Amino acid sequence: MIPKKVRVRFAPSPTGPLHIGGVRTALYNYLFAKQHNGDFILRIEDTDSQRFVPGAEEYIIEALSWLGLRFDEGVGFGGDKAPYRQSERKAIYKEYIDQLHQNGLAYIAFDTPEELEKKRGEIANFQYDASTRMQMRNSLTLSPEATNKLIEEGHQYVYRIKIEPNEDIRVNDLIRGEVVINSSVLDDKVLFKSADQLPTYHLANIVDDHLMEITHVIRGEEWLPSAPLHVLLYRYLGWSDTMPHFAHLSLLLKPEGNGKLSKRDGDRLGFPVFPLEWKDPKTGDISSGYRESGYFPEAVINFLALLGWNPGNDQELMSMDELINLFDLTHCSKSGAKFDYEKGKWFNHQYLQKKSNKEIAELFIPVLQAHGITSINMEQVEKVVGLTKERVNFVKELWDACSFFFMAPESYDEKTVKKRWKEDSPAMLTELIHILQNYEPFDSPGTEEHVKTWIEEKGYHLGNIMNATRLALVGEGKGPHIFDITETLGKEETIRRLRQAIDRLPH
Ligand code: GLU
Repeated sequence: MIPKKVRVRFAPSPTGPLHIGGVRTALYNYLFAKQHNGDFILRIEDTDSQRFVPGAEEYIIEALSWLGLRFDEGVGFGGDKAPYRQSERKAIYKEYIDQLHQNGLAYIAFDTPEELEKKRGEIANFQYDASTRMQMRNSLTLSPEATNKLIEEGHQYVYRIKIEPNEDIRVNDLIRGEVVINSSVLDDKVLFKSADQLPTYHLANIVDDHLMEITHVIRGEEWLPSAPLHVLLYRYLGWSDTMPHFAHLSLLLKPEGNGKLSKRDGDRLGFPVFPLEWKDPKTGDISSGYRESGYFPEAVINFLALLGWNPGNDQELMSMDELINLFDLTHCSKSGAKFDYEKGKWFNHQYLQKKSNKEIAELFIPVLQAHGITSINMEQVEKVVGLTKERVNFVKELWDACSFFFMAPESYDEKTVKKRWKEDSPAMLTELIHILQNYEPFDSPGTEEHVKTWIEEKGYHLGNIMNATRLALVGEGKGPHIFDITETLGKEETIRRLRQAIDRLPH
């Protein structure tokens, strides 16, 4: 038999911004598809109009595109199984619910919410199933004539799946192995509603996976409880032979490891749980995003890939191509992965170091402009970036690490002055100015040797002079190698700052 082409789908419901756990699900689907030269499909599951949030679909598409997860087919990408938005596939589902109904595998139920509520009051742990369905108002307890009459009179109804009790249902999960669940614990789930003529998630999901020839269903652990019902639906519809493989991914956990990662954890600990910034259309509340917080998409991908999977050794930095190569669905972890957001920052730091100074300089320009730096010398910015990038995790943090290159100190850090500005500092720096004035070409190693020779010959204190110089140039005790600073500032500016410090600091 020719093996089927791998086809996976990411099937979000547009009920809000995509959570970072959903992004990981999309990533694992993508890696698996690309590894097998398969197709990665975007299906929008929007049959629950109550929960529809405007802008959510666009958000999902933009977020995944920012991360470089390109779909081969789907909403916004086309494909020969279109449409890929479930609300546009209404007519398709009707046929299958009719088929189930005709075969006696689904029935019509008229119970109103009030009636159901009443039953819940009467029967402890009420569940609509084989033990209770014969006490309810449905096509199994009413005659065909009575059923038709109610429909004709315009009463709303639903179709429910008819589940036979006491059968062990087996779900083969690529991550978890065989999961066995007894059908008695399942309820007769609603599959279709007359009110909007729309299927519920369960029916639409199975019909679409079948029609779209999905081979592997890779999704979050929260869907594992639905899997036995899905297995039954494949059987009821006569599609067991082509049922996809399942893989249920473990949860992303709070950084402390107790419970599911939530938006509140992000707010509490100060990290984004959404890929892009999201503005709630109802409340106007803004939630931060990885993109706007300054993360590189490659860093987010690398970070997420390792939350629930690893390559079996301690390699951590992996490009998308390497991930595609190394990813192994069957080796995903069965237990939840703690969301270590500090690690996320570490990944961003690593990817920042990998970028060329030129690339970072270009990203840094808007930050400089926002701080009022307008006359920008690209070559100088690149140099500054090269000297300071090692100290930061994000481009925007560069400003704090290097603003002194662009603005002479306006004041001097008091503590550093007390500690580093000695009685003889003004005299020493005045002499240093003379030493520097005639020195060319002012490059870092040359200047260093020149200055050190002078200090040695005079028997001066190297440390004291260097500390005072740093204070004069930077305004405090931090910064890169001092002669890298003088080279980057240039002779004129270096001397100007030395003079300014001599003028302004105690003498
Ligand atoms: N629409 C479901 C969700 O929002 C899809 C679950 C599945 O992949 O089957 O996650």
